Amino acid sequence: MATAIGVVITNRIVAGRLEGLQLTGKLLRHPENSDDRDALGSVPGSELVALLADKITALAAKGPVDAIGVSIPGIVRHGVVEDSPNLPQLKGMRIADDLTAVLAARGVVAPVHAGNDADAIAAGVAATRGQREKLTRVWTIGNGIGYGRWPYVEGVWEGGHITVTLDPKERYCGCGGVGHLEGIMGYRAMRMRFLDLEPEEVFAQARQGDARCRKFVDLWHRALAAATASFIHLAGPGRFYFTGRNVGFLDLPTLRTHLETMVKMSPLLNFSLEILPPDDETALLGAGVSAQRALAR
Ligand SMILES: [Zn+2]
Repeated sequence: MATAIGVVITNRIVAGRLEGLQLTGKLLRHPENSDDRDALGSVPGSELVALLADKITALAAKGPVDAIGVSIPGIVRHGVVEDSPNLPQLKGMRIADDLTAVLAARGVVAPVHAGNDADAIAAGVAATRGQREKLTRVWTIGNGIGYGRWPYVEGVWEGGHITVTLDPKERYCGCGGVGHLEGIMGYRAMRMRFLDLEPEEVFAQARQGDARCRKFVDLWHRALAAATASFIHLAGPGRFYFTGRNVGFLDLPTLRTHLETMVKMSPLLNFSLEILPPDDETALLGAGVSAQRALAR
């Protein structure tokens, strides 16, 4: 059974060793004991590669490795980070080649596969639920909004940047685009919108009946419903999962109510919505599975 090292980059780094579909040993993290929402924001790209190499080298010391999978938020294709609005220092980096070279200098030789972080979660969900042949879609709700799908198909799939409103005042997206889903739902975007309240306070005050906050929380759910409805109209109904560090803001019944106003054609009504508690293991597993699959091609 193939051995892989999976690495997930979000607002921090998590790495682990996989034997087939099983994580073995402890996960390694950077920073080790921090809940900093932006722990990597100021780390230059080359330092980030060195940090990744540190974790991978430590895990590789435990035995031979067949493949290394790295998942990164943003557009990642053919080993290149084409864009990463929430980790802009990575833009343009040939992350797979760079990491391969740094690892080789440390005596770790294995193919490196880089992919999108939300795609990795979709791969992990599909693998752990035994639905590797079924279309699996995942929304990750964090600082940015990620959209992942399994099986992987060539494309950009930047679902977080899908346009969900024509209001020209909606311009809080990290990428600079107007009317984007992430400009409404993203953590950073919410902080820019509510300069006087943290996002947690917005949701708490909405529950207590504050009119301004309730209006926004409704918009937040309608935006996600609109984006999900668009993907149902493009690729069909099926399974949608919601996860990420801010998935606690999501109320599924509210989302479903809005979605039902947006999707009306009878062949499209067979969709399911499920919240997955955020965990590093699923994404790690997906990064490893994606690397193993890339190896098999
Ligand atoms: Zn955007």
